[in-house]
Amino acid sequence: MFEYIESKTILSKLRQTDTLFGINYSMNLYRGCQHGCIYCDTRSDCYQVGDISNIRVKKNAVDLLKKELAAKHIKGTIGTGSMNDPYMPLEAKLEITRQALQVIAQKHFPVHIITKGKLVTRDIDILKEINKTYCAVSLTITTADDNLAKKIEPHASKSSERFATIETLALQGIYCGVTLMPLLPGINDNWQNIENIIRKAVDSGASYIIPMLGVTLRKGSRDYLFKAFDKDFQGMKQTYEIQFGENYICYGSDYKILYQKCSDLFAKLGISTKMNFYEGKKDQQLSLF
Ligand code: SF4
Repeated sequence: MFEYIESKTILSKLRQTDTLFGINYSMNLYRGCQHGCIYCDTRSDCYQVGDISNIRVKKNAVDLLKKELAAKHIKGTIGTGSMNDPYMPLEAKLEITRQALQVIAQKHFPVHIITKGKLVTRDIDILKEINKTYCAVSLTITTADDNLAKKIEPHASKSSERFATIETLALQGIYCGVTLMPLLPGINDNWQNIENIIRKAVDSGASYIIPMLGVTLRKGSRDYLFKAFDKDFQGMKQTYEIQFGENYICYGSDYKILYQKCSDLFAKLGISTKMNFYEGKKDQQLSLF
């Protein structure tokens, strides 16, 4: 179920370039997300999104995007995928993300897509066009185990499908990698899981892996997570209450050891933990010729 809404704007300018993801503008074509991840930060009260399973589609999104991009004289990377997933199942039918990418390609703006949806490969034709300027696709992967992913990210593509998506994108020359985050202490923040993700990401052709080995929780997102714990992870709610209270950032007790192990493995495998950002050179060089 979904409903259409009108939006006043479609691009939000960040105060400064995001240092992890290289994003200057954030673009949300939907409100709410079908993927249902139990840790989703979009449920935090501060965003006032309400029930995120109630999907609202910004019906004037593509027209707004055309107008807003036409008014921008300085290019900056458009990021999508932080408050909702641009490749949630509904996108297969509505193609709002696809239409927005077509506009972005026509306007030669750089893009960074963050997703858990294999549907992104549908748009490889447009991503290749955007890639003449700059295109990055990050697949978020929090567990290498499809069964565990089903519990913590119930309606997203399987983890195995996300690795396959990286392989497809990489073979097509699209710059892509993994955002290895968040990790829920006591659930998926163990070395076996982290090592599996890293090795599979590298084998799939990822160019980078950006790790964050904990989870952020706020009022709203914490309440939902605790309810989900009662369903599938008995006793975990009490453990979190004792260990983290109302902390915003929640790390497991051995997170420093895990970061060190990651760092050693990244060095051994020769994989970067930082993305290359848009620098405004590629398309300028193209225009010279
Ligand atoms: S895909 Fe992202 S936005 Fe959607 S439910 Fe999961 S964490 Fe939230």
